[in-house]
Amino acid sequence: MNMQETESIVGRANRDGANLLRSWFKSLDEAAHRDEKAAYVFVMGSMNEMLKAFDMHISFPEITSLQLAVRHVAHEYLQEAEDYGYSPDICGYVKSDVALQLRGGEHPMGRIPKPNMTVFTNACNTYIKWAEIWERLHKIPICTLDVPGHRQIGVHTQPGQGQFETDRAYVEVQIKELISTLEEVNGKKFDIDRFREHLAYTNQMSQSWARLLELNRSTPSVYNALTDGTIYLGVANGFRGTKAGADYFADLVEEMEYKVANGIGTTTDEKHRLTFVGVPCYPIFRRFNEIFSEWGGTFVHSTYLWFASGGTNRGYQYDLADPIRSFAEGTLLSVRDAMDSMFDQTSLLKDAIDDYDLGGVVYHPIKSCRTVSTGLADSRRQLMKDTGISSLFIESDMMDRRVVSEAQLKNRIDAFFEGLNSRKQQVALRSI
Ligand code: SF4
Repeated sequence: MNMQETESIVGRANRDGANLLRSWFKSLDEAAHRDEKAAYVFVMGSMNEMLKAFDMHISFPEITSLQLAVRHVAHEYLQEAEDYGYSPDICGYVKSDVALQLRGGEHPMGRIPKPNMTVFTNACNTYIKWAEIWERLHKIPICTLDVPGHRQIGVHTQPGQGQFETDRAYVEVQIKELISTLEEVNGKKFDIDRFREHLAYTNQMSQSWARLLELNRSTPSVYNALTDGTIYLGVANGFRGTKAGADYFADLVEEMEYKVANGIGTTTDEKHRLTFVGVPCYPIFRRFNEIFSEWGGTFVHSTYLWFASGGTNRGYQYDLADPIRSFAEGTLLSVRDAMDSMFDQTSLLKDAIDDYDLGGVVYHPIKSCRTVSTGLADSRRQLMKDTGISSLFIESDMMDRRVVSEAQLKNRIDAFFEGLNSRKQQVALRSI
């Protein structure tokens, strides 16, 4: 192995990803200071390619909110929103964003511009009520994209089938309506060739993302799906449909292929390969992962890398010869897939157990996200019944440090690993 080459490649993705995210926040800050507005969108069905074709600044309030927690100030924003009248039960992303709006966009990473419109899907019902808050505060148009989910567990209609094509046509009509709204808001005509360019960059990114997921099947694993994965998700969303995003993911795949080829793991002590179900514990983001890594536990897979990647995980390729029809198809497939990985992740997990050689599943239901957390206890029971895999069920929050008890989490996590270790010992003894 060439040491110089290794030093220049390994760790590059995290460095470049952090730089890209800083540059994105800087551009939002500059837009806010120039009093330019931004479209507010969400990770599940962001419509980035369409908005970029109109040169719009784009803010993802889920990402600005989670950054408040990672930077340890979310509790101040949450308290402000609760004092304003929002219930402690509401999604923490929404409440911290409300406080951010009341503070005129003040954020530790730079000022966030006000919205001039928002577009969102029905992937989470909170999106709809959240957008209505901006509609009231900023008097902006809000565009809802109603994306039909699967009607029946295990029955996934596909392109070419009757029901799928009806659903696709339904999404396509809504996308055409969105184009009219965008033309009105921006005072310019839709340029289909620019749209094609952005779709082409997303095609490259999606291909890389699918490859990235595949690469972590290797032993040792080459990235941590929870910590490194969150950086990749930030870039996948913020830079979707851009050259910078496509180039970043090509470099990322190169780095991970290099690590696989040279047996360079994300840790030198990989004893337990795990998957993570839910949304991370951002108030103690690094520490949360450390409690697992101290036992040799590594997250090689997560459902978060599916539902929060804006559909990039499917590797879907837009047909540039028929961009609007294909955009509708890709949106339907990816939003539907995101909904499945939140509501019906058991079948995904069953496949992942073998594909990623998993030794355990960590379920992390959180107080303020019912969308992702509801039903997780039942899903866990079903998965354990069907596969016998060990699992851990720990509750905390993705924003609110007032309900995160590190000591309690550590006790539960320690007991989980003691169980995993003793199970491994018994298997080893039986094989003697
Ligand atoms: S998915 Fe959960 S965290 Fe995201 S907006 Fe919906 S309720 Fe909030």
